[in-house]
Amino acid sequence: KVRVRYAPSPTGFLHIGGARTALFNYLYAKHHDGTFIVRIEDTDVERNVEGGEASQLDNLRWLGIIPEESIDIGGPYAPYRQMERLSLYKVRGEKLLANGQVYKCFCSTERLQQSREEQKERGVAAPHYDGTCRALTQHQIQEKEAAGEAYTLRMRVPEGTYRFHDLVRGNVAFESKDIGDWVIMKTNGIPTYNFAVALDDYDMDITHVFRGEEHLSNTPKQLMVFEAFGWTPPQYGHMTLIVNEERKKLSKRDETIVQFVSQYRELGFLPEAMFNFFALLGWSPEGEQELLSKEALIEQFDVRRLSKSVSMFDQKKLMWMNNQYIKRLSVDALVELVLPHLQKANVVPVWANEEQLAWVKELALLYQEQLTYGAEIVVLTKHYFEERVNYEEEAQAWLEASETTAIAAALTTALQQATPNSSADWEQLIKTVQQRTGLKGKALFMPIRILLTGQTHGPELPLVMKLLGKELLVKRLAQFSK
Ligand code: GLU
Repeated sequence: KVRVRYAPSPTGFLHIGGARTALFNYLYAKHHDGTFIVRIEDTDVERNVEGGEASQLDNLRWLGIIPEESIDIGGPYAPYRQMERLSLYKVRGEKLLANGQVYKCFCSTERLQQSREEQKERGVAAPHYDGTCRALTQHQIQEKEAAGEAYTLRMRVPEGTYRFHDLVRGNVAFESKDIGDWVIMKTNGIPTYNFAVALDDYDMDITHVFRGEEHLSNTPKQLMVFEAFGWTPPQYGHMTLIVNEERKKLSKRDETIVQFVSQYRELGFLPEAMFNFFALLGWSPEGEQELLSKEALIEQFDVRRLSKSVSMFDQKKLMWMNNQYIKRLSVDALVELVLPHLQKANVVPVWANEEQLAWVKELALLYQEQLTYGAEIVVLTKHYFEERVNYEEEAQAWLEASETTAIAAALTTALQQATPNSSADWEQLIKTVQQRTGLKGKALFMPIRILLTGQTHGPELPLVMKLLGKELLVKRLAQFSK
């Protein structure tokens, strides 16, 4: 039975790369009726950040990537947090030590640093442990221990080639001489990442591991652990890098891209759209259709279609996709999406009354077609909440080239004489202006739109006027006449 895991280190918040890794594992599990679990890899204690763990779990849930086993829901393989599994690692470390597969290394950090530098000077591209403690005698070891010297446990790496079949890149091979004896257990008794991961993957019956390319070079070390115990390793698949629009590896400092899932959530992106988008980041369905529901993605997911080349994080595509999902929202879901943003911007009261809510509903519907993310509503509808109109540059030019004065006068009079209510009333009002000025089409509509909104584009004029309301319109016309 398929069992896969997403294993975040709580050294940061849920990043787009992590979300993609989690998603592919999830899709694989669901496609094969398997189990998806989340394991927290918190052994790098100094680098853990406050709130990292919660951010990972909470944002995964928001995306709809729901684990069946994890730290908060438990499960048959608990505990799911590595720092709670220390005794399991310790026992295994001792076992390997007793077998001579690992040895105690007393080298100090300074010594190791020095050796690394010497190797570099000699032109060694990837320096590794020089083997000093490999051949310590029992007597030497006892002496050092008696003197209270701290030690790590190092894997006695057997000579040979490590080969495995990667589900994405095919056959991969590593020479053990390029790896060197590596530490499995630090002086403080905490296992290193590679040791803990391999043991957990075994203990948790993990069958497949999909993770980022940056872990490819860790795989031979993990395979060594499986080999040392005579266990069968899981199958590995390393997904290619995510790059930015300049085809450069995404760095967490790259400010041209919003990189954390929580940020998208705050901006009002829809989890369904993000789910769909992440699924296409390094994977493609067989058909042309890119808008795919979670169910469709689960059904179609096939590791043979994982990309072998880098995947570009295309923000424009994400916007497009999110807009596609926004367009399909029910009115209620739409209001739920935009209302908090309008409230946060202080243009709609937090305790909005029925009438205000009805108004927001109409406003939201008016902009549903073009809205790309929730918070954008504030930008798109700014002119509904300002006393004065700010004419865009292009709009200004239009006003100067049109019979604006006549239109403004006719519109003002028409407004004074009427109490328009429904959008039909507002249409009628525009007709009146048309009759009085003798203008029609763009020559009429454009100046009206600009006078009232400052913009040259927007939803249907009668609807816009209705939402702006008579009072504000009169003020704006007065602003122009001054
Ligand atoms: N904890 C590792 C990380 O956050 C993941 C390790 C793995 O998937 O094997 O990068």
